Amino acid sequence: MSNESRGFGIFEGDAVAGFDQVEAESTPDGYKMTRDCESCGREQSLLISWPEVLCVASSVFPQQVGMQDTWAYHQKLMIMFPQVQCGCQGKLMFPMTPQQAKKILTDAVNNGQISAQANQAMQALRGPIAQIMQAQGRRS
Ligand SMILES: [Zn+2]
Repeated sequence: MSNESRGFGIFEGDAVAGFDQVEAESTPDGYKMTRDCESCGREQSLLISWPEVLCVASSVFPQQVGMQDTWAYHQKLMIMFPQVQCGCQGKLMFPMTPQQAKKILTDAVNNGQISAQANQAMQALRGPIAQIMQAQGRRS
């Protein structure tokens, strides 16, 4: 895989077969992931907003800080993923680990890719995220 936008190296390999089908790129509003639906084959895209990425980077579900996006955790694969469906009712897997989210966020910050609005939204989340982490006995 020479093209960086072709997905995540961490998902290569047998244990997570199929997850390397995700393409992704950073945009001013968030991290855009694209993949083909496993049920109907149609290409589907999802924009993970930067505040969502920040939540995942902190191992906090976006819904825990009042966002409308509902994420779940896959215990066996140790990944977080937004609970979204294709129009055909097929489940769409857009996986992200906290480690990946941290790297995606850091890279986007360093490259100046994040919009001022998204930066503001993330600032507003730092308090609530820190509170949740504290409640869980984790350091923020
Ligand atoms: Zn589908």
